[in-house]
Amino acid sequence: MTNNQIFEEDKRYVSPTYARFDVAFERGEGARLYDLDGREYIDCSTGIGVNIFGICDEVWKKAVTDQINKIQHTSNLYYSLPQTQLAKLLCEKTGAKKVFFGNSGAEANECAIKAARKYGNTKYGRYEIITLKNSFHGRTIATLSATGQDAFHKYFDPFLGGFRYADANMEGILRCYTDKTCAVMIECIQGESGVHVLDTSFLKELEIFCKQRDILLICDEVQCGNGRTGKMYAYEHAGIHPDIVTTAKGLGGGLPIGACLLFDKCENVFTYGDHGSTFGGNPVACAGAVSIVERLTDELLLEVQGKGAYFMSHLGRINGVKGVYGKGLMIGLDTEKPAREVVKACLERGLILLTAHDRVRLLPPLTITKAEMEQAITILSEVLGK
Ligand SMILES: *Cc1c(COP(=O)(O)O)cnc(C)c1O
Repeated sequence: MTNNQIFEEDKRYVSPTYARFDVAFERGEGARLYDLDGREYIDCSTGIGVNIFGICDEVWKKAVTDQINKIQHTSNLYYSLPQTQLAKLLCEKTGAKKVFFGNSGAEANECAIKAARKYGNTKYGRYEIITLKNSFHGRTIATLSATGQDAFHKYFDPFLGGFRYADANMEGILRCYTDKTCAVMIECIQGESGVHVLDTSFLKELEIFCKQRDILLICDEVQCGNGRTGKMYAYEHAGIHPDIVTTAKGLGGGLPIGACLLFDKCENVFTYGDHGSTFGGNPVACAGAVSIVERLTDELLLEVQGKGAYFMSHLGRINGVKGVYGKGLMIGLDTEKPAREVVKACLERGLILLTAHDRVRLLPPLTITKAEMEQAITILSEVLGK
């Protein structure tokens, strides 16, 4: 099939919930992708922050295929080596005490919401969760309800109660705080709304505020986690210690997986029957994830920091770029031209970018080379200079 045949059949058979660009990718390697017509692209999107070691990474591919050759699924009624290994690895890397596995970011956040409500309800009769304006936590009804953007609160009423949306500062938190508050849920770097890095002093104050009141601090690391920003998880930049961490996107290196990390306070919040997921922690996805997390070493994270600094400084010098935001290889750009136009024009020239609200967003693989970053900079300069 050619690109054009796919577009027609897709429009006929797939529910049109996505504003797709007219490209169908067929294969790739690292930060390079090829479409069905054989055109080459530099990938600064990684399938929205998923293919963290690029396309067809050899180590990940071997881990996944080795597992497929053994068993593809067992259900959570039995123990599974890759799932246990991944849970142990995540706990060792973060200090978390227990892990629950789902299949997506939304599912990881659903778990966090349930954990926070059970903790608050059983201990104090508290159930409200404060989330931030401009946040994004997923597309299920609960995670849409948690998302602090009015644009998401249409058509599907009634939404789940018990969420309050605060400005990203302590005054905002205090305005939403009540004697029913059980948790505050934040993204240390808000991805979908435009790569907004939350203020470190706010995060530190928020941590103290929560600790003093036994309110759980939940960090949604679905997008900014797993080495993306040059730390294992982005909350480490601020030196804070959340009670619950959710992650997904980059964790599986390309296969669907979500994880909810429960730290000391929540270690024993769940018991038999409280939660579950048929596909959650699938052995193939977990085997791939183990091969990813094992390689997120201090050395690699330093490399990501270096690449991020290089990329951000050069992007900032392009004519037509008004501002550069983010950390490591999670980058947002304010451009003179509208973001979607920029992304479309870059795609036509062989560079894959993302938008994030009104900004251009780059989430390249952590393995992107200097030459590939330079190629991306050249294409973006051409598009913005026109
Ligand atoms: C993408 C994202 C989600 C939702 O993840 P899905 O895997 O699409 O369900 C939740 N939170 C944040 C911060 C995200 O970026």
